[in-house]
Amino acid sequence: MTIKTALITGIAGQDGSYLAELLLAEEYRVIGTTRDVRRASADLVAGLSGKVELLEWNMLDERRATELLALCRPQELYNFAACSFGSGMYDDPVEIGEVNGLAVARILEAIRETDQSIRFCQASSREIFGAESESPQSEQTPAIPRSPYGAAKLYADSMVRIYRRHYGLFACSAILFNHESPRRGLDFVTRKIAREAARIKLGLASELRLGNLEARRDWGFAGDYVRGMWLMLQQRQADDYVLASGETHSVREFCECAFGYVGLDYRDYVQEDAAAYRPSEPTLLVGNISKAKQALGWEPRVGIRELVSMMVEADLQTLSGKPSVIGAENSV
Ligand code: GDP
Repeated sequence: MTIKTALITGIAGQDGSYLAELLLAEEYRVIGTTRDVRRASADLVAGLSGKVELLEWNMLDERRATELLALCRPQELYNFAACSFGSGMYDDPVEIGEVNGLAVARILEAIRETDQSIRFCQASSREIFGAESESPQSEQTPAIPRSPYGAAKLYADSMVRIYRRHYGLFACSAILFNHESPRRGLDFVTRKIAREAARIKLGLASELRLGNLEARRDWGFAGDYVRGMWLMLQQRQADDYVLASGETHSVREFCECAFGYVGLDYRDYVQEDAAAYRPSEPTLLVGNISKAKQALGWEPRVGIRELVSMMVEADLQTLSGKPSVIGAENSV
């Protein structure tokens, strides 16, 4: 029996696909919106084809937002559509501002106009914290973004808070730290390492060139983070939460673990290329998840070792021609 309808923007990306799987298991009717239905159908993970409905929605089209909400009548709306690139957080600041920032105001307006009982979850980002941040970061940490991407996400968070307080909407922001999976885009360092470790193991490549091996991140499994966002919308009150693993690991440790999984020593294959260093790195990014633990009963189930093994194993299987679990190559 179908109990609820959920609308997910950016359904063909990593988070959209994991959330869709979770919601289908909870017997939701799942509708995904995308800029291009034909492309999104091709990008969907195999298990979702035919199970989710896809509708076109250009996030810059405000009238379409109202039209879609009136048509679909969702109880829950998850906004995962965003411009997201590991190193491209400075590229095209105007488009990033439109899609990652202003589009959220459009959605909130559409909810206010159509049905104020719709529960809304915005996928925010640790990128709202800039170089001057304290560490670890919590919901109370002052947000001083250092990139157009972070600034747009912060604008969206502010609108979520304003609509929650001023109009009483059930609107939440999930401040997400890095979350990875076999469905992560190849631009991100975790997936690049996992895939290359698998290729080297299979004799398809012989070296892996990376930037700064000492860079550290708070990496978790995307499947855990979408569960956190779903839990946020099941509460009595809307609020914002940091979702993170609460620990950091270096790129070097990630390599050690990934190559170790296939029985190789990363030092024999990985080349550190100083030219590929980022010009600036943020403060040590690590989330404080006390609030999510306490209020949602949420904590990550998949640790770093399990995450790395899952990613390398998935790439090994895909490269050896076994059925793919990867599907969505785009991040959200
Ligand atoms: P994000 O920067 O946290 O969004 O995620 P990335 O996966 O793009 O980068 C994580 C860290 O890995 C950054 O500090 C990068 O400087 C570092 N890094 C080292 N080598 C690479 C590489 O080849 N590609 C990417 N994307 N990042 C790298």
